[in-house]
Amino acid sequence: MASAPVTVTITGAGGQIGYALLFRIAAGDMLGPDRPVRLRLLEIPQGMRAAEGAALELQDCAFPLLHDVELSDDPRVAFDGCAIALLVGARPRGPGMERADLLAANAGIFGPQGAAIGEVADDDVRAVVVGNPANTNALIAAAAAVPGVPADRFSALTRLDHNRAVGQLAVTLGVLPGALRGVAIWGNHSATQFPDVAHATVDGMPVPDALAERLGGREAALAWLDDVFIPRVAKRGAEIIEVRGSSSVASAANAAIEHVRDEQLGTGGATTSAAVVSRGEYGVPEGLVCSFPVTSDGEGYRIVEGLELDARSRARFEASVDELAAERDAVAALGVL
Ligand code: NDP
Repeated sequence: MASAPVTVTITGAGGQIGYALLFRIAAGDMLGPDRPVRLRLLEIPQGMRAAEGAALELQDCAFPLLHDVELSDDPRVAFDGCAIALLVGARPRGPGMERADLLAANAGIFGPQGAAIGEVADDDVRAVVVGNPANTNALIAAAAAVPGVPADRFSALTRLDHNRAVGQLAVTLGVLPGALRGVAIWGNHSATQFPDVAHATVDGMPVPDALAERLGGREAALAWLDDVFIPRVAKRGAEIIEVRGSSSVASAANAAIEHVRDEQLGTGGATTSAAVVSRGEYGVPEGLVCSFPVTSDGEGYRIVEGLELDARSRARFEASVDELAAERDAVAALGVL
């Protein structure tokens, strides 16, 4: 017997990432070829025509797994019964906009969406925030969803950063991406993030050893990590904009799909990266939505505990956590939390 359709809500569905996401979800790339889906598209009135156009195209694809598509500009309608929410739409930073203004504008979006999820979503809902500043937007939504939905059902996307790190390593080491295991993104989805290879392996060999072999010694490997790898991963979004003339859309949508797929179907013991609600792991203040190495058994992400971070790594991680704490304090000062 065919399984019951899963209700998936996408906010900002009329935008670029939304356009790249919808067709892959409907094709079964996110939940597999046996899970039919219902799509619920949330947009603000200005984005509604674009979302309507995408819905017409979805119809024209005649996807066997797609049960129906509904559009709304009301979060309580769009999240009704939803089991998976991808929160993509966010307020971009405008010219001359201060960080506090950006946080306030996004609090006005993610607070009501979190509250609606808490009231009307499925009991077992999982929500991932893509729209930036993603970690703090997730913190706001999670706080607003309680008590209807526990805060730990919310996460934020650092899978694109993770994939970018894997991609850079694969090219540098001359291997396929699948040969790499254990890469981690720590901290905020921002320029302060810390992409870490200390516990990563390539075909079973420690990545630091493989880099030393490939690049001519330990010092050369360390210099490459500090001067090329970490800044390149952290600033890859700007590089894509410069080269492509437009932001990274397909790779962001792909990462969102992989984030949800792994959370729902499990990672099979492999480690990936996601920003999840801290319970104090690695000294990160409780409640911050911070990126860690994680695994999933299909019941949500679990932080990989007990990894050693040397002094340099810890300093990088702490700088990013300090930024997250400052964002949380700025939001709290607005009276949002
Ligand atoms: P995109 O679809 O390109 O991006 C959407 C969000 O994803 C942005 O906040 C963007 O952050 C973020 N993002 C995260 N990772 C990446 C990445 N790697 N590359 C690029 N962006 C990334 O934006 P559009 O303007 O095309 O679409 C946004 C849509 O959201 C519009 O249709 C708008 O109407 C809608 N919207 C809906 C809301 C709602 O449903 N209530 C509220 C607000 C907007 P960054 O800004 O840093 O690029």
